[in-house]
Amino acid sequence: MPETVMDKLVSLAKRRGFVFQSSEIYGGLGSVWDYGPLGVELKKNIKERWWRSMVHEREDIEGLDAAILMHPKVWEASGHIAGFTDPLVDCKQCKNRFRADDPRIKGTPGQPDAQCPVCGTKGSLTVARQFNLMFKTFMGPVEEAAAVVYLRPETAQGIYVNYLNVLQSSRQKIPFGIAQIGKAFRNEITPGNFIFRTREFEQMEMQFFVKPGTEGEWFEFWRGERMKWLQGLGIRAEKLRWHQHGKDELAHYAKDAYDIEYEFPFGWHEFEGIHNRSDFDLSNHQRQSGKKLEYLDPATNERFLPYVVETSAGADRTALVVLCDAYREEEVEGEKRVVLQIKPSLAPLKAAVFPLVNKDGMPELARRIYDDLRGAFNVFYDDGGSIGRRYRRQDEAGTPFGITVDGQSTQDQTVTVRDRDTLKQDRVAAGQLAAYLKEKLAG
Ligand code: ATP
Repeated sequence: MPETVMDKLVSLAKRRGFVFQSSEIYGGLGSVWDYGPLGVELKKNIKERWWRSMVHEREDIEGLDAAILMHPKVWEASGHIAGFTDPLVDCKQCKNRFRADDPRIKGTPGQPDAQCPVCGTKGSLTVARQFNLMFKTFMGPVEEAAAVVYLRPETAQGIYVNYLNVLQSSRQKIPFGIAQIGKAFRNEITPGNFIFRTREFEQMEMQFFVKPGTEGEWFEFWRGERMKWLQGLGIRAEKLRWHQHGKDELAHYAKDAYDIEYEFPFGWHEFEGIHNRSDFDLSNHQRQSGKKLEYLDPATNERFLPYVVETSAGADRTALVVLCDAYREEEVEGEKRVVLQIKPSLAPLKAAVFPLVNKDGMPELARRIYDDLRGAFNVFYDDGGSIGRRYRRQDEAGTPFGITVDGQSTQDQTVTVRDRDTLKQDRVAAGQLAAYLKEKLAG
């Protein structure tokens, strides 16, 4: 079988230290992944950019970091215990389990004509049963029903149960929002496509609390803002599109929902959602907890339960979008090169410093430059192999600038800076490098 783009990306991600399979030496853990030295930088850059634009640059949004474990009643109120399920079918023959809507299943599960997509047996598939996607565990020393807690399947609920705490302590007024980045867990049945669908992942969610009746305008506002932000990541506009949920697709909490989809090598799929959740969550928490969650409008003395517009993105899926969008195979001077054209400000390493050869004072000057830049930028030092090979390694890592110290450098204290994408080389005074990089990395 020819290697697909995804195969190549997964192998590059491992080779260069972006993403490794979890517990690989034990054969891996299904659909759980670890971020290596470059991957952790990329994901951190995405999260920091999101935080800057959603929290620091806005007067009307506050940050939060709620715990993963929450009172189990939260998940009753949110509807996750009853409704966060996927319909599943089992094959009685080979014991594999599938989502009932798995496109590989031929026929109707439970009927004699239905065929198992793995072992091919006819009539071996059970009728669909509902399977809850939440991970369950126990809190305290005893494993009994009373001690059951869940690993949160979304970060949003931590925001709802803290909405009054944040409102009162920050002295915000409605409309205002709460933003949070954190882990979420789902016992997905058909995970896959690398870090697209995993059982442990990170979400970047923002809940915007508004006066009922104004949610339509805010929904449109946040759709616009989120698309602008994604385009600011340097993602090609033609690879992004909207998908509005039909009635049959809407989640149990949503009145209206739009996904932002990206054209991955395996097709168009969602990686961010904008949802109108109405007062579904707050009214359920108010009922379940018995605590008043109403807002008192200081201007009009009106009391109301706010409506919520949510923007919900996966940090891992967004990282996958950035990687897929950046991946290129090119011919350069008759040689093939693989390059990740990641927007420079998101790139894990901003520059690599190379002495052309390991003598004549070049390594000393290169190290000095490296030490100088390290305080402000994540830079890399490489003196191994031919300069061409060192450039190629950085191309694959997505490093936007290659700084080479050559024979001339030791004479006049200038270096060459090679641009990853245009391959053009500038000669820059060593003392000006920090300012040069700062300008190129803006935006
Ligand atoms: P899907 O239909 O793909 O299961 P969803 O509609 O259930 O996703 P939401 O509940 O709206 O997703 O979650 C918001 C975001 O969280 C998604 O757009 C995605 O980026 C991320 N996300 C959800 N589930 C996963 C997962 N299993 N692995 C990685 N990211 C996920």
